[in-house]
Amino acid sequence: MFKKILIANRGEIACRVIKTARRMNIETVAVYSDADQDALHVRMADESVHIGPASAQESYLSIPKIIEAAKQSDVQAIHPGYGFLSENKEFAEILTAEKDLEFIGPPPQAIEAMGDKIASKKIAAVAGVTTVPGDRNEIESDEDAIRVANEIGYPVMIKASAGGGGKGMRIAWDEAQVIEGFQSSKNEAKSAFGDDRVFIEKFITGPRHIEIQILADKYGNFVYLNERECSIQRRNQKIIEEAPSPFLDESTRKAMGEQAIRLAKAVGYYSAGTVEFIVDSERNFYFLEMNTRLQVEHPVTELITGIDLVEQMFRIAHGERLGFPQSDVGISGWAMESRIYAENPYRGFLPSTGRLTRYTEPPDRRSQSEAVRVDTGVYEGGTISVHYDPMIAKLCSWAESREKSIALMRNALDCFEIDGISCNIPFLSTVMGHPEFVSGEATTAFIEEQFPTGFYPQDLSQDELRQVMAAAVVMHRTVAIRAAKISGQMSSRNQRMIDDWVVVADKKVCRVKIEELNDLRVRFDDDQTLAMTSEWTPGQSLAHMTIDGESMVFKVHPITNGFRIRYRGADLEIQVWTSRQAEMSRHMPVKENVTAQSKLLCPMPGLISSININVGDSVEIGQALCTMEAMKMENILKAERPAVVKSVKAQPGDILAVDDVIMEFE
Ligand code: ADP
Ligand code: ADP
Ligand code: MG
Repeated sequence: MFKKILIANRGEIACRVIKTARRMNIETVAVYSDADQDALHVRMADESVHIGPASAQESYLSIPKIIEAAKQSDVQAIHPGYGFLSENKEFAEILTAEKDLEFIGPPPQAIEAMGDKIASKKIAAVAGVTTVPGDRNEIESDEDAIRVANEIGYPVMIKASAGGGGKGMRIAWDEAQVIEGFQSSKNEAKSAFGDDRVFIEKFITGPRHIEIQILADKYGNFVYLNERECSIQRRNQKIIEEAPSPFLDESTRKAMGEQAIRLAKAVGYYSAGTVEFIVDSERNFYFLEMNTRLQVEHPVTELITGIDLVEQMFRIAHGERLGFPQSDVGISGWAMESRIYAENPYRGFLPSTGRLTRYTEPPDRRSQSEAVRVDTGVYEGGTISVHYDPMIAKLCSWAESREKSIALMRNALDCFEIDGISCNIPFLSTVMGHPEFVSGEATTAFIEEQFPTGFYPQDLSQDELRQVMAAAVVMHRTVAIRAAKISGQMSSRNQRMIDDWVVVADKKVCRVKIEELNDLRVRFDDDQTLAMTSEWTPGQSLAHMTIDGESMVFKVHPITNGFRIRYRGADLEIQVWTSRQAEMSRHMPVKENVTAQSKLLCPMPGLISSININVGDSVEIGQALCTMEAMKMENILKAERPAVVKSVKAQPGDILAVDDVIMEFE
């Protein structure tokens, strides 16, 4: 086996590769840019080499710098992770040509053949793989686009041949949209990939995204490690994945696995790779593309098969044969993955940057019946910069059934604490509890259909709200008892003070009584009682409780007279008063929540790519105001209240700094 390798990547994937290397006694070398001097992957590796400024172009994407770092540190091979140079044919070619340096990935010709959607579809068709109905040629003109779209039948999808990461795709339902989509897809492809070739295929409505993981060695042995379902997508990018898929039956799984291998064979593939399919409601499946690298969501496959994909990539690159036949590959239990992003789910998922003032993961654990796995690239006190992908961690759960795996995921999400930046945990939590997702029937249209105007703090059910209120009272009482003990005021005369409370949450006011028997009972004014046990002590930011026997975790933050509690997709301020305080507070003026902003300020450094409104327009909540390119993503800035646009201060093409005024409202 290799003695020493370099990881040409950063973040969670660099850390993940280092973990397996360490287990196999392989020494590791990390590379880092100016922005990553203190990054976790640098801390974890045995050695590290500085490769340049923060800009990825001059560091993680610079082939000469990576090769130089490899030679300088005397490694035998390079693992590219995903993104960056992982699907760069030239990089693989240079390494393959170097005598003493191995590329831990597929052969360059396979990267090239599969890197282009037009070319890969042609190869797939020849190999007997079913592809999405469409035209496998580049579209040259508006007339050409209309002719092809009419032949295929609407709706159609216009796609960039060099596309990736959900970019350069447009759906068209009629001729006008075809012309518009053709031009905008071409433009986006040109600026994102420097290659403006586009093609048109049938748009499959309400499909599922299901992909097959394969492994192959250098001696022509191939296996498929079953499927992952990645239908929960936002702007064609995956955010929740699972394995197996709740939608596949055994014969479809086998047919997809065999087609995936046929395609891999056709391009002389070795290493780990993924063949992506789109599956319609009748379980017809169509090839989309092949990703010639380790995939972000590979952990769910590892959890159900027990196979470490990075270890396999090392072994294959080193020239070993696959150590197991297809018949040894099984499916054990059910795995879920949530991608945790530094972004604000309540503001159109805008990337968020800054220092992680608090970062506590649910503990990694693995037993016979369940597992929680966290793949991360950050730590408390570290920063999220604007330079790279805003994904900060992947949280996976594994249990014997889908239902149990979802429950475990929900609990693990509750235990994840991230402060200092915004993150999408409330959104992930909401999806995990959504009836359509839970039923296993969600398609790629799920987010658009269920959250058409965006995501807002969720209302809790009546029962959940009561549980949160009860938790707040119990915590508040703990604080009151402690204060009374300190000031020596604890006496039976004051018992009422800690037993009778008024709770205000979400405009609901309830009187509650606390009864202390063996456990605590919270009795609401309509006589509903909840049996509570609490391990919370003042100062803790996570409150673990059992309520009527159910374990629950709340994120809590003390506020005047109560707590701000985050639970699942909800974020509530709960006030707790003694009966006397409550009487007095009735006479206090109610403070209005003033959120109306008169300006749209730039939330992060970036480039304005389009302005979607005109001066004088009336905009609705959730309406797109403009789009910005920042942190390698297109971000849509949306109206947070109904307003009339008074002036527009920025133009497409402007590069703005944080808090620059983009537009003003009346
Ligand atoms: P995967 O197929 O491995 O799940 P995706 O399809 O989400 O990965 O992304 C495709 C590629 O784009 C990956 O190589 C990933 O590193 C990169 N990528 C994903 N999300 C982003 C992002 N927000 N910004 C930049 N690159 C991204
Ligand atoms: P990328 O290289 O950006 O990952 P893909 O071709 O893999 O592009 O497509 C990304 C996502 O876009 C798919 O997972 C699917 O949700 C959607 N998509 C792509 N092609 C189609 C299609 N023909 N019909 C419906 N949805 C599609
Ligand atoms: Mg894809």
